[in-house]
Amino acid sequence: MYQAFLLKYAEIGIKGKNRYKFENALCEQVRRHLERIDGSFRVVREQGRIFVEAEEDFDLEDAVEAMGRVFGVSSISPVTVIEDKEWDSLTKAVGDFVEEQYRDRTFSFKVKCRRSDKGYPYTSPEVCVEMGSYLLGRFPGLSVDVHSPDVFIWVEVREKAYVYSKVYRGAGGMPLGTNGKAMLLLSGGIDSPVAGYMIAKRGVFVDAVYFHAPPYTSERAKQKVVDLANQISRYTGPIRLHVVNFTEIQMYIYEQCPHEELTIIMRRYMMRIAQHIAEESGCLGLVTGESIGQVASQTMQSLAATNDVCELPVYRPLIAFDKQEIVDVAEKIGTYETSIQPYEDCCTIFVAKHPVTKPVLSVIRRSEEKLAEKIGDMVTEALETREIIEIDG
Ligand code: ATP
Ligand code: MG
Repeated sequence: MYQAFLLKYAEIGIKGKNRYKFENALCEQVRRHLERIDGSFRVVREQGRIFVEAEEDFDLEDAVEAMGRVFGVSSISPVTVIEDKEWDSLTKAVGDFVEEQYRDRTFSFKVKCRRSDKGYPYTSPEVCVEMGSYLLGRFPGLSVDVHSPDVFIWVEVREKAYVYSKVYRGAGGMPLGTNGKAMLLLSGGIDSPVAGYMIAKRGVFVDAVYFHAPPYTSERAKQKVVDLANQISRYTGPIRLHVVNFTEIQMYIYEQCPHEELTIIMRRYMMRIAQHIAEESGCLGLVTGESIGQVASQTMQSLAATNDVCELPVYRPLIAFDKQEIVDVAEKIGTYETSIQPYEDCCTIFVAKHPVTKPVLSVIRRSEEKLAEKIGDMVTEALETREIIEIDG
């Protein structure tokens, strides 16, 4: 029934001369997602929209789902192609479309027309009026409502003619590849996968780093992070995941520093290491799942203490989100069920009963001096021994 799709853009980022970059990136992502389903599709850019033409049979649900994950698309409409646009066959084809699409034909409608073939004998308003009266004549249960119809019937007259009436919501945002790359600190929790998804939604590619602490954290805990990376990469595209062995550093901090400062100092080392990998990978910033006040390490003072060691910008897309709002996104993108699996995380193992909630930077810095002897070598070792996993869900 459908042979094509019409995609509308969500938002054009940097306008003017750069518009084509946005459009090309969008076409490329649409192609990439469609390559993963059965069928063969031609993706072309046309007058501020994207037109996808199927070259063989395909599954409608799969195609809509695949394109529904492309950032930068605001809506997806399956379209029927009408080869012969001569008036009588056009009206008949549009009537057949209505007949096939709607078993119950007792709704109100309005015909909308776009005509790029300016040589066509009918203007757009004429197509609307004439098509409307043809449909009323053929289907007595229909009525016209020009203000708030139940159904819009879109007719486009170009080289060929096209008809559509269904509009599926797209993922919104900006196409991947229009805004560089960032390094996501990905844990096995609920928040960081959502943060990665959200930053990618603004057109940013992501790589990720996970701090693993064997034997305190199990292989299963690491697998959970790999699973989460796979799930978000269905939206974000390929992710290079760096798994850093953090055990020695964590133990060393535990031995040398006051326990109530452990989390903050640990987080400062996570940031330093992540930043090093980020710079090596050409990332323009770090991304975390932090949100003000959620836990002791996310008070304004704690965030400031963590931020103190970062030279790259740190993006925190969830900073003002409530937990429930984060959970809602996690459910929508399919990471929630994985995130709530009960595997230990390296932060929870050594946490003090009463962590500082208002760390004082000078105090934290002084505590870190106690690590001077070995920490440099440990960080180098952690960087050198990291495992790299290529993710492409
Ligand atoms: P999440 O749900 O993402 O785990 P959280 O609420 O548990 O977050 P924290 O454990 O304080 O909060 O972590 C804050 C942020 O630090 C996380 O969102 C993540 O970006 C990063 N992070 C924490 N632990 C790790 C880890 N083991 N590896 C990589 N990043 C981590
Ligand atoms: Mg966590």
